[in-house]
Amino acid sequence: MIRYVAGLDKGKGLYFLFVKSESKTAGGLPARPVLTSYYKSHHFRARPFDPYNVYTSPTAAVLCADAFQSMYSQMLCGLLDRLDVLRVGAVFASGLLRAIRFLQLHWKQLAHDIATGTLSSKITDSAIRDAVAQVLKPDPALSEFIASECSPGDWAGIITRIWPNTKYLDVIVTGAMAQYIPTLEYYSGGLPMACTMYASSECYFGLNLRPMCKPSEVSYTIMPNMAYFEFLPLDSAAANADAPPQLADLAGVEVGKEYELVITTYAGLYRYRVGDILLVTGFHNAAPQFRFVRRKNVLLSIESDKTDEAELQRAVERASELLRPWGASVVEYTSQADTRVIPGHYVIYWELLVKGGEGGGWPGKEVFEACCLEMEEAMNAVYRQSRTADGSIGPLEIRVVRGGTFEELMDYAIARGASINQYKVPRCVTFPPIIELLDSRVVETHISPACPKWSPRPN
Ligand code: AMP
Repeated sequence: MIRYVAGLDKGKGLYFLFVKSESKTAGGLPARPVLTSYYKSHHFRARPFDPYNVYTSPTAAVLCADAFQSMYSQMLCGLLDRLDVLRVGAVFASGLLRAIRFLQLHWKQLAHDIATGTLSSKITDSAIRDAVAQVLKPDPALSEFIASECSPGDWAGIITRIWPNTKYLDVIVTGAMAQYIPTLEYYSGGLPMACTMYASSECYFGLNLRPMCKPSEVSYTIMPNMAYFEFLPLDSAAANADAPPQLADLAGVEVGKEYELVITTYAGLYRYRVGDILLVTGFHNAAPQFRFVRRKNVLLSIESDKTDEAELQRAVERASELLRPWGASVVEYTSQADTRVIPGHYVIYWELLVKGGEGGGWPGKEVFEACCLEMEEAMNAVYRQSRTADGSIGPLEIRVVRGGTFEELMDYAIARGASINQYKVPRCVTFPPIIELLDSRVVETHISPACPKWSPRPN
């Protein structure tokens, strides 16, 4: 970044960084996401001073597992240092938008703390209180400024209004995160967005060597020393489902082709299929560069959650059991990750068949709400953790559409050239005219009334 943006050593980075609670595998090994591992490590906690990497967030705030206390104190420190902030970021776009949402909800309390120089009693973590005490002094002028920017409820360009020296946003907006680009543009007044890295908990993959390029042009250069990388050509996998796959080596991939990433890591994963589909866009010396195309089989994703078709199917099946006593069943369904309001949430469209007759009838509100919660209970642990412990995913919503809607959906697809023989109901929809069609046929909407169960211990 130093090569692309001058003066980053003259200020600070406001990064919203979080740890997640850990779990244990059935075999007793600790399991945690890579960034939680890194932030808790000696490398991060005892990092030497580096003028290019000075953060406004105290380490104690990053390390606090309570999402509210962590976010509150990181936002407070970011506000106190507002004129020093040169870049604003989070790992993924969803994290940064959560921070903005947090500001919208809590600016009054934050402004109060700044005016009085006292930290809210909701912050009970003693390490955070000690760290914040070092920087929090009464500053009525700053408090008034924050109130004047936030109270009108106009959030356009809020990032540059509060942190006027911000040169760019440091967030990943490729892959599933691309859905957040327009919202980030709105809040930042069009600041550039730098996607610097492509990584996973299993392995670090690559860097973006042109970090200031447009999000749609981002390519990641694989770092050959991070693992042994191989590539499964997408077309060959489809053509010869029974034949052993022919993997390409790192230097053997072809520009313009799509591959599934396969890694053999120092930690012991052998020919592990990460699940990412990548397109080769060029080479940096002999190292190939890839555009992230999509995550294989992922239908829905709000932040780190990844829900595939089989999981969604299971969740719908579990929930529709609750309709049985009413003689009702789900005849068709599809879904959408709705991120227009932060935190985003899953929307599931249901078309029902209600037989009526003895014991039958249209199920009541409480039944549908129970169905929403049942679907959430059926989701994977990452989803439930994000919902329950982190609050980074909102409550699941069921939208019941009137009878015949899915037939209309099919008519629409056929009118646009789909084959009647091979038409399949899409289990996730993103195309705006289809979403409009579905929404215009909604007869009832229901929201999950509670959080699903989640525990850091495996079930
Ligand atoms: P996790 O398993 O939670 O560590 O997440 C790793 C996954 O996140 C990767 O395999 C990708 O699917 C996705 N991911 C990570 N970095 C990027 C990126 N820069 N652009 C798009 N998707 C990414």
